[in-house]
Amino acid sequence: RPVIVWLRKDLRLDDNAALAAAAETGAPIIPLYIYEPESAGTGPLGGAQKWWLHHSLAAFGESLRPLGSRLVLKSGGARTVLEELIRETSAGAVFWNRRYDPLGIAVDTPVKQALKADDIAVKSFPGQILHEPTRLLTGGGKPFRVYTPFWNALDRAGDPLPPADAPRRLHAPDGWPQSERLDDWNLLPVKPDWASGFGEIFTPGEAEAHRRLDAFLSDRLEYYDSERDFPAKDATSLLSPHLAMGEISPARIWHATKGLGGRAGHDNLVRFRKELAWRDFCYHLLYHFPDLPTRNWNNRFDAFDWHFDAARFAKWTKGLTGYPIVDAGMRQLWRHGTMHNRVRMIAASFLVKDLLIDWRHGERWFRDTLVDADPASNAANWQWVAGSGADASPWFRIFNPVLQGEKFDPKGDYVREFVPELAKLDDKYIHRPFEAPADVLSRAGIVPGEAYPQPLVDHADARRKALAAYAATGQTG
Ligand code: FAD
Repeated sequence: RPVIVWLRKDLRLDDNAALAAAAETGAPIIPLYIYEPESAGTGPLGGAQKWWLHHSLAAFGESLRPLGSRLVLKSGGARTVLEELIRETSAGAVFWNRRYDPLGIAVDTPVKQALKADDIAVKSFPGQILHEPTRLLTGGGKPFRVYTPFWNALDRAGDPLPPADAPRRLHAPDGWPQSERLDDWNLLPVKPDWASGFGEIFTPGEAEAHRRLDAFLSDRLEYYDSERDFPAKDATSLLSPHLAMGEISPARIWHATKGLGGRAGHDNLVRFRKELAWRDFCYHLLYHFPDLPTRNWNNRFDAFDWHFDAARFAKWTKGLTGYPIVDAGMRQLWRHGTMHNRVRMIAASFLVKDLLIDWRHGERWFRDTLVDADPASNAANWQWVAGSGADASPWFRIFNPVLQGEKFDPKGDYVREFVPELAKLDDKYIHRPFEAPADVLSRAGIVPGEAYPQPLVDHADARRKALAAYAATGQTG
């Protein structure tokens, strides 16, 4: 009897434990992807990630063909789809790789119970994170709340499980069940095609994930520690959207870095692994504290007097705040569906601390616009920036967008790329155009307040208000 392999955010052949185990049974295999209704297992998929999913599904379907297989696409509730497919194909087993987000677990647990009650063999496998979230615990057997001891435990735990090789062949069933057409899911934007710039830097799919990993390890790992914070430099791996869709496994990445400490430098290797471990930490937090995307971790923030202002929020989303580094980041997000990590921190801090807008608005915007949108990493990082999270950056540490820009984009290259109206401005004023004298502006072809907006708020003033709002919640630290 056939085995159904239910694929979710694990669209890869390599190190796909469920697929490898299914191949080993020798039974016919039906690879299945279910487009679940919004807010079911996968959580509401943002627009940018729908674009990615479309291309990722197409690439994965193609990669199955040389193995004698194909990808069956179905939409609907997971349990109904699986039960119908089991009836149609007489499948005797369903395999999948575990998900760790609360919405995914809420779907998977009852599906598992229902199928088992019908005598279907259900097997779930690890592999989406480096270590199972229940494996690493404090000495007292509790989940970690602080990153550094989590990292120490992860480091001590040693290598994650060795990655499973891609299957060479997948036996086809006698007849293929009907598949829906990917195009009918309308995952791609129609008009305007706001995703047209994503392809400038990204190509979804497993093959590209591996190519990117190889290129990163051979060309950039050796500069990673010193250059990763500079957004104009091409110094990071850009693997996050591939990881978010499971086109490459974190264990494969981890194992690929083994033995590179000599050539690339131990510090670079550890720094990169520590970033990968942040992803695991975010999942660890989400698994043990499932309200992470919606509730303040630190409930003292529940009393915070946020000031949602629709017009200001819209300007932030469009990259029209008047602070060049924030605006460059927000426009990079529009154009490429991503934003450099350092700038994510600056732009998020600006929304929460300068505009006093609740971090959950920002989290939702990022979820809709990032190609790497991830329920764990997005929520945990937003709470980290807001100061409301586990092991968070304290509220009173308020990023100054001008100084951050000058420090991490000293020549303004990043700003010039994404805020072209400032392209000709002198380096001295590139992060503070509102201080530039009239003759400097006119030399750069800028009419004050016209080509580029005046700052939405005065940072020094906003900072005072932010500290006062924080003090009003009665918090001292
Ligand atoms: P690299 O520097 O090459 O790092 C390697 C990998 O480590 C990344 O691909 C990523 O999987 C992981 N990683 C690195 N930094 C972090 C981090 N701070 N938290 C968790 N994992 C990390 N990352 C997402 O994948 N999805 C999100 O939705 C997301 N939202 C964020 C929201 C905010 C407000 C902030 C400040 C950060 C967010 N991040 C998110 C984390 C980080 O910005 C991205 O993972 C990183 O920019 C991806 O680029 P890269 O692949 O080149 O990273």
